Amino acid sequence: MLQVNHLCTSFFTDKGEVRAVDDVSLEVPAGKIVGIVGESGCGKSMTARSVMGLVRAPGKIKSGEILLDGRDIVRLSEHERCAIRGSEISMIFQEPMTSLNPVVRVGHQVEEALLLHEHVKKQEAEARAVEIFEAVGIPDAKKRLRSYPHQLSGGLRQRVLIAMAMICRPKLLIADEPTTALDVTVEAQILRLMKKLCGSGTSILLISHNLGVIAQVCDYVYVMYAGRIVEQADTFTLFDNPCHPYTKGLLDSVSSLRSGAQVLDTIPGVVPNLLHLPAGCSFSMRCGCCMEKCADLLPELHETEPGHRVRCHLFDKEEPA
Ligand code: SF4
Repeated sequence: MLQVNHLCTSFFTDKGEVRAVDDVSLEVPAGKIVGIVGESGCGKSMTARSVMGLVRAPGKIKSGEILLDGRDIVRLSEHERCAIRGSEISMIFQEPMTSLNPVVRVGHQVEEALLLHEHVKKQEAEARAVEIFEAVGIPDAKKRLRSYPHQLSGGLRQRVLIAMAMICRPKLLIADEPTTALDVTVEAQILRLMKKLCGSGTSILLISHNLGVIAQVCDYVYVMYAGRIVEQADTFTLFDNPCHPYTKGLLDSVSSLRSGAQVLDTIPGVVPNLLHLPAGCSFSMRCGCCMEKCADLLPELHETEPGHRVRCHLFDKEEPA
């Protein structure tokens, strides 16, 4: 459904070029949930915004292709992009309170996409809004249409955003940290809902820093670091056999009831400044396995087994470590 090929998105600032997304290629097959995981500032959200066509100046898609159902949407005009945004691709943002207009009733906000894209009558739009509210589990749907965002709980607001994103039945739904602002019980409900949507044919690109969320719902996972994909595999393989030192570090820093550890492992240091990335591996300053060539030579993505790729010199074929 979605195929991103060698996408590069940069910000051109007074201090130089910030490569927010650097040569990212990924796929979201029809009816699957694909996850992107990584720390804040690793390029996950900027990848999503590039797909949505929401990169604003001084940012720019420098190169690459974004194929939605075979059509390259990078080359579309702003007018053509507006036509597919909401109808073919939709996005759920992290914080429902800031994504909803506080002075407009939620029903009107949800119906707006239908009125704009499908030019239906107001009455039909309202009937469809009730239908989608019920589908996303909003109780007393007809009455809720008349609520303002502040009258709803965080979970209900997020459901309204999902309803808004789904009302035109898009082919692709991008969910950027959709459960970060929610408590764990509401998070579980939203994740169940996303699985249900996926079962009805929608493809989902799920962005999260939470490995637990990714493990629960995704079919395939991409791990990003400093704007690049550093590892990709199906979910079971990634969690069962992580290969990149960064992925291992992420997994080690998750608390486990089974390990009995008193102190959590952490990855030393911080994500490097994207203005001054090392010429080689961008994880080299934090990696416990760093070798001489790592700082100068950018590692390629190596396939370690079918569907499992790792960007690390430890997997160089000519010179196994
Ligand atoms: Fe560590 Fe080198 Fe692999 Fe980078 S390429 S993750 S520095 S071993």
